[in-house]
Amino acid sequence: MTSLQSIDLVCPVCDNHFRSQSVVSTNSFGGKRTDFHERAAGAQPLPYLVHTCTACGYSGVERSFVEGAEVSTHVRSQVLTVLTPRVAQHQLDTASERYHAAAQVAEWEGAHPRHIADLLLRAAWCCVDDSDHEGERYYRRAAAQRFTEALDLADAVPSTERAVLTYLVGELWRRVGDDVLAAEWFERVDTEIVDPEDQAWVRDAARQQRESPREWFG
Ligand SMILES: [Zn+2]
Repeated sequence: MTSLQSIDLVCPVCDNHFRSQSVVSTNSFGGKRTDFHERAAGAQPLPYLVHTCTACGYSGVERSFVEGAEVSTHVRSQVLTVLTPRVAQHQLDTASERYHAAAQVAEWEGAHPRHIADLLLRAAWCCVDDSDHEGERYYRRAAAQRFTEALDLADAVPSTERAVLTYLVGELWRRVGDDVLAAEWFERVDTEIVDPEDQAWVRDAARQQRESPREWFG
């Protein structure tokens, strides 16, 4: 079971006080997809790990709303221009839309592309859970592009994590149906291995997904 609790949040953009729900505990008994999407038995926790101000649309994880959290003038003006109109138009109602908004806020804050990619990947996973295939493809592509940017930045990703991110980019392209790009990325995984013993599973997963893809690990 995933258990939730009500939390009180304060918006650093518009000072709105509002209630949201957060995850107290969850589980991964629902298995793990080959793009690392963990499924819980019972309710899925992902929609409750991102929060959106009900007044202005500012979005982020819980720590973005702690007392004393501050945002820059640039972020505030972007939120009011881009996100606030979406509140009235009910375009920040689904979990994927809220993760997308959080990714935009991260972008305005100048966050690392890997962090932005993680939020976009979560948006894609929420679309999977909501059977929104078009949204899933959109966010998977956006996440793949941001992970690629992160890998292209010199020294931005620790060498021990490059192989698994390279595998993930391949898996994202495979899941949007671009088998050529997927194969290129899966083949690249070998060149990113820095610890053949510890990372044997990544090499094996890349080979598996290239030759005879599986949807779930295990
Ligand atoms: Zn607000």
